[in-house]
Amino acid sequence: MNKIRHLTILGSTGSIGESTLDVVNRHPDLFNVIALTANNNTDKMLAQCIQFRPRFAVMLDADQAGRLARAIDQTELDTIVLSGIESLEKVASMSDVDVVMAAIVGAAGIRPAFAAARAGKLILLANKETLVMAGRIFMDKVKQHGATLLPIDSEHNAIHQSLPHDFDGNLPGKGIRRILLTASGGPFRSASLDSLAHVTPEQACAHPNWDMGRKISVDSATMMNKGLEVIEAHWLFNAAPENIQVVIHPQSVIHSMVEYIDGSVLAQLGNPDMRTPVAHAMGYPKRIESGVSSLNMFDVAHLNFEKPDFERFPCLRLAYRALEMGDNMPAVLNAANEVAVETFLEEKMPFTAIPAMIEHVMNISERETMHSLNDVLKVDSAARDAARDWLGTFRQTA
Ligand code: NAD
Ligand code: MG
Repeated sequence: MNKIRHLTILGSTGSIGESTLDVVNRHPDLFNVIALTANNNTDKMLAQCIQFRPRFAVMLDADQAGRLARAIDQTELDTIVLSGIESLEKVASMSDVDVVMAAIVGAAGIRPAFAAARAGKLILLANKETLVMAGRIFMDKVKQHGATLLPIDSEHNAIHQSLPHDFDGNLPGKGIRRILLTASGGPFRSASLDSLAHVTPEQACAHPNWDMGRKISVDSATMMNKGLEVIEAHWLFNAAPENIQVVIHPQSVIHSMVEYIDGSVLAQLGNPDMRTPVAHAMGYPKRIESGVSSLNMFDVAHLNFEKPDFERFPCLRLAYRALEMGDNMPAVLNAANEVAVETFLEEKMPFTAIPAMIEHVMNISERETMHSLNDVLKVDSAARDAARDWLGTFRQTA
């Protein structure tokens, strides 16, 4: 990598967004920030604009964009402030941007990710929901427009690092038997099953190893996160569901593994800090400093492994089921999960209602084949309505 990379960071005020800017800050000679985007955190966005001087700052929310524009007027910055989903698509596809970090959380990230794919960008994909909702359609768009995908999710980044450099989407052809996707098991790995009905959002968001946004933290507590990652691995690496084995590994030191037919198992290890996969993808194929400290094996001392328990983690079972059913089912699963997590975080239903809501929505949703992003958005919206309807009846009977 010799020329400077021009960057759009979608979701710059989030956990992955901040890790990305931390890596950018270490390499002013390698990266130039063209655009930053956020939902509504204007104060953080203003601080990021002052530090990184982007050409564009996009707030999804128009009122917040107005606030930001007025604040920027008080500085000597010439950052242009925009708002709305079309502006997110614009900064993800502009001709002077080479690299798009897709780090918006949830289904909200799908339209800008598609815009980046259509514009043939190098996409650093943290927003796993795009692949879960629209796997085949998104992968086809990437191929059709000559875009490149590099995974930011630590597991998929580890798998990418453990695959042969010339991996072409043919696992058996490269002598690969299966993928071992590691999972920490989250904060409730060994809590009593009875106690799960009473856990609070704060307990669910207190992940033992990773510091992340609230939605993915709850997903880690239900292990839906691992379920979404199984679907993500299926699309990224063309792996059949039966060749993706989830392995609970509470220390989160091995970030995932690839097993070859000769019995070799290649793994990527490191401290649980997202700046490692972020720096790996940002510098790719060159290795660059990330600020992550050396892994101290003597402090780690033990690496443990367990089989996942589908009774404790019904969301993981539902995700495998959605992947096996195919068509619109992963999009239905994702939409119902987003409503379920939001509702739990608002303390309007218990933690244990999350899988119940998702299973209900999957059971009542008709199977259909999706052909376009528009089809995906319609499935997403119908599944959200079905989840809210279920909540109405659940709250009456609870
Ligand atoms: P976060 O909640 O910390 O940040 C989300 C970002 O998206 C923020 O900048 C927010 O302003 C923006 N955003 C939220 N809603 C939006 C909307 N409707 N429209 C536009 N922008 C919106 O989330 P995060 O933990 O950084 O996760 C981001 C993505 O990366 C998720 O898809 C998550 O699954 C994935 N991921 C995160 C981690 C991690 O360690 N945090 C690890 C692996 C994968
Ligand atoms: Mg992950």
